[in-house]
Amino acid sequence: MRILIVEDEKKTANYLKKGLLENGYVVDVAEDGEDGLHLATTGDYDLVILDIMLPERDGWSIITEIRRAGRQTPVLFLTARDSVADRVKGLEMGADDYLVKPFAFSELLARVRSILRRGPARQPEVLKIADLELDLVKHKASRAGQRLDLTPKEFALLSLLVRRAGEALSRTLIAEQVWDMNFDSDNNVIDVAIRRLRRKMDDPYARKLVHTVRGVGYVLEER
Ligand code: CA
Repeated sequence: MRILIVEDEKKTANYLKKGLLENGYVVDVAEDGEDGLHLATTGDYDLVILDIMLPERDGWSIITEIRRAGRQTPVLFLTARDSVADRVKGLEMGADDYLVKPFAFSELLARVRSILRRGPARQPEVLKIADLELDLVKHKASRAGQRLDLTPKEFALLSLLVRRAGEALSRTLIAEQVWDMNFDSDNNVIDVAIRRLRRKMDDPYARKLVHTVRGVGYVLEER
């Protein structure tokens, strides 16, 4: 498995490289955006770990160009930027995961393994489950051909559920991926958001797609 790290902070890049090498991966490092883009679009990588703030060219632009070049290489964003808008943007732009610095290497490794396990077949830009359609590029959702009027957060939440369809997602995972909040104090936020989402995308339709998994969280699937 070959991994490309695009990271301008030498210390972080070396730390990542060392850890990944120790775990049996083949690793290349690019220290600026142009090199990163060049390697990502000409090399044969199973995963790109991509910083956002980079000299020459930022991570947003790199992932856009990778996808424009028709490459479906999985991308894990690694960044100090920690706003909800950035997380949503990263996932919408086709990133497979998003990890905020500082991070524990063990967590990075778990995410890397999880992405690589999903294999090279990336999800298309339009995701479909039953009569639900999600256009990740145009940021539109519809059911039975009817446009769903979702807020950006609702769209991000639905995207996560659809991307991981069939998988029971814990409130903690949902909180990490969609919100930038500490949910130890109040994980009711997720339940409220799910209720609002269901009101728009499930309640008006006979076939329900979002299901509660008792003691865990939620799953989106066709039953
Ligand atoms: Ca940086």
